Amino acid sequence: LEEALHQAKKMEAIGQLTGGIAHDFNNMLAGIAGNLELMRIRLQQGQIDEMRRHIDAAEAVADRATAMVQQLLTFSRQQALAPKPTDLRQPIGFMRGLIEQSVGSSIEVRITLPDDLHPVLCDRNQFERALLNLAINARDAMPEGGTLAIAARNVSLDMEQAGLLQVPPGDFIMISVADTGSGMPREVMERAFDPFFTTKPIGQGTGLGLSMIQGFIKQSGGAVRIDSTLRVGTTISLYLPRHVGEVAVDTQQSMETTGVAC
Ligand code: ADP
Repeated sequence: LEEALHQAKKMEAIGQLTGGIAHDFNNMLAGIAGNLELMRIRLQQGQIDEMRRHIDAAEAVADRATAMVQQLLTFSRQQALAPKPTDLRQPIGFMRGLIEQSVGSSIEVRITLPDDLHPVLCDRNQFERALLNLAINARDAMPEGGTLAIAARNVSLDMEQAGLLQVPPGDFIMISVADTGSGMPREVMERAFDPFFTTKPIGQGTGLGLSMIQGFIKQSGGAVRIDSTLRVGTTISLYLPRHVGEVAVDTQQSMETTGVAC
């Protein structure tokens, strides 16, 4: 009976999800169609500058739709990870520019990385994607600006600390992404990792960011933790197990896709 109930709940969730996606896509298509129509009118009037504005607007909506499809695909495929020994300072450094660009100039980005950071075994692309997702969540929580602090450090988890995070005790690398934003009410914090849970308006949030990040980090043998205080801010901490062994220097690897939305 429990299994049947679980299944029924799942079906209901899938029904809600597909309804929501259809709705989002309808809105986005309407946005693109509307801009195309306006472009035709401007073309007839010979207003080239106005036409450019509508091209930009249509492109922005199309990008959002692409990002959403990308995220859904990643989610449904449960993409196979390609973990490699990684010095996380490389992907963090690599993403800096994109993060700064994504959060805008009203948010100060601070990055703190120690010289002796231990390597981890993880999929670099997924890590970069996770970092960008967290930065965008932080931006959304700071509409009036603030500080986004990204830091990494070596930590040793004892039995008790490890138990709370449901990982074996030992050496980890902790990557924290802290904002000075709205913080999360308790009921949001409790559901933040649920797939498709979002408090954002339709079309802006898929509710997949944190659940995908948690899936990826857990698959890599780590854990994710949220600390949040209302009107003070939120810190998301990713724990990844230390990798013992050498690390290949990989200077040119980059994000597969940049169209990521949360
Ligand atoms: P999405 O960003 O698409 O809504 P997520 O799974 O990334 O999906 O986040 C789920 C919810 O958790 C968000 O809608 C938001 O309410 C809350 N949340 C996530 N990150 C933060 C943050 N840094 N500050 C405040 N709330 C957050």
